[in-house]
Amino acid sequence: MLTKNSLLSVIFLLVLRALSAQPTNQPVPAAWCGTHEYSAWLHWYHDHKNELSTLRDLDTAWLYVPVTIHIVGDDNGSGLYPEGETFRILCEMNEQYAPARIRFYFMPGEPFVYHFKSSWYEHNWDGGYEMITTTKIEDRLNCYIVKDPAGNCGYSWIDAIVMGRGCSGPGNSTWAHEAGHHFSLPHPFFGWEGNAWDFAQPAPPSVGGVPVEKMDSSNCFIAGDRFCDTRPDYLSYRWTCTPDKESTVLQKDPNGVAFRSDATLYMGYALDACTGRFTNEQIEAMRANLYTEHLSYLQASSPEPNLQDDFGISYVSPIDSATEQYNNVWLQWAPVPNAEFYLVEVSNSPFFSVVFFSKLVSGTTAVNATKGIPNNRTLYWRVRAFSSWDLCTPTTAQAPAIFRTRNLSSTNELERLAEITLAPNPVNSGAPMVLSINSSESLDLLLTVSDASGRLCHQNRTFIYPGDNRLEIPTYQLEAGFYFVSLQTTQGTLVKRLVITQ
Ligand SMILES: [Zn+2]
Repeated sequence: MLTKNSLLSVIFLLVLRALSAQPTNQPVPAAWCGTHEYSAWLHWYHDHKNELSTLRDLDTAWLYVPVTIHIVGDDNGSGLYPEGETFRILCEMNEQYAPARIRFYFMPGEPFVYHFKSSWYEHNWDGGYEMITTTKIEDRLNCYIVKDPAGNCGYSWIDAIVMGRGCSGPGNSTWAHEAGHHFSLPHPFFGWEGNAWDFAQPAPPSVGGVPVEKMDSSNCFIAGDRFCDTRPDYLSYRWTCTPDKESTVLQKDPNGVAFRSDATLYMGYALDACTGRFTNEQIEAMRANLYTEHLSYLQASSPEPNLQDDFGISYVSPIDSATEQYNNVWLQWAPVPNAEFYLVEVSNSPFFSVVFFSKLVSGTTAVNATKGIPNNRTLYWRVRAFSSWDLCTPTTAQAPAIFRTRNLSSTNELERLAEITLAPNPVNSGAPMVLSINSSESLDLLLTVSDASGRLCHQNRTFIYPGDNRLEIPTYQLEAGFYFVSLQTTQGTLVKRLVITQ
C-alpha cells in the first residue's frame, strides 16, 4: 500500500521521467504522424530563396537517394518486417517522387540492417531516440520499420524516418509523407498540430505561435507551412475526402472566408487514397534540401545498370511436378543478368495468395527450404529478381514452377501418402478434437481410440478421399489420461498418442 510520502515520491519520479523523456525538439505524439517540428533549414531556405532561384530554374537533374532499411524485431527475433515487401515500398516511393525527379535506391552493400530489441520494436520516444542515435548510418536515408513508433503510423526525427509495419502496406502514403518531412517539408496545417477548433468560427490570427494562413494569399510566405501553393488547411487529424479531393469539413480563415482543405497533398492528413502529389514549391524545397543539408546523399550521378525489361526466370529445380521431401526442398534457378536480390516464394496457389515460404537471398541462386512447407501437397514456387536500383516487380507476371511434397524419409507407407495431424493435443475432456488427413489417394480407414491399458474406447470405419479430410473424434466419454489413436489402412498403420486433460 502506498503511503502519502511514497505516493509523492512516485509522482516526483514520474515527473522526472516525463521530463527526461523529452530530448530537445521532441515531437508530440499524434495518432498518425509524430512529426510536429518546423525544420530550421527550411526557415533558412525561405530567407535565401531568391539567391537559390537561378540554380532552381536550370535544375532538371535527377537526384538519387541511397537508402538503408533498419528492420527491427523483438528480443526473440520475431516480428521482422519481410524484406521482400521493402522493394514494393521503395518502388511505390519512386513513383510518388518521380515528379520531383528524386529516385531512391538501396545503398550498395548495406540495403538492410537488423536489430533485435523489444524496447525499439514497440517504442516510446525514449526508445526511438536510443534506437536512432545508436544505429543511424551516415550519408544515406535511414528508414526504420518497427511495430509501434511511439503510438504513430510513422515519424521523421533526428535525421531518420521511422515507420510502423501496419502503415507500410500497398498504396500507403505514410512513407512519402515522412520522407517529405525528412527533406524539410512541414504539414500544410503547420501550427495546428494537436490544436482543436470550432471550424464554424473564423480561425484566430495565429495558432501554436504560427500565423494562420489566409485564403487571399496575403500571408502565405509566413503562415502555416510558408508555401504559397499549398492552400490553407487547419485539419490536424486524419480525414476522408470528397470525390473532388477536398475535405468534407468547411473551415473559415481569420477573415471569415470559407474553404475546404486540399486532400491531394502527401504532407496533409487526408487518407492515403486521397493523396497523390507534392506541390512545385514543396518539390523545389526538397531538391534544395538535397543540394545543401543532405548533399552527402548525392553520391550517384546516374543509375547502375538495370535488369532487362523482359527478363525471365529460368527454373532449374524442382520443375515438372517433381516430388520433393517436404521439409528439405532445394529450390534453384538460373542467374538473371544484373540481379542482386531474389525473392523466393512457395504457395499452394498460382496466385500466391497464401505464401508458406518466402525468402530474400543475395549472392546465390538457390535456397534450401526446410520450414513452413506442408507435406503431401501440390505447390507453386516463383522467383522475383531485383537490383539495388531496380525495385519494382515486372508488370508481366512470371509463371511459377510446380512441385509435389511427400515425406520420402518416412518408413511408414501411410505417412508417405498422407499428412495426418491430430489437434488440439492435449485436449480438454468433452472438447472436440479433429483428425485432419490430407491424402494423395483414397483410403479405407479403421480408426480406433484405446486407453493406456489397451481397452477399446471408440472405433469407426470411414472412407478417406484424395485431398483434405476432417474427422471429429468425440472425447466426452473419455476421462483424463493417455490414449492411443490408431489409423489402420491397407497401406499401413499409424498410431498417434493423445492426451486428454480435465
Ligand atoms: Zn507528418
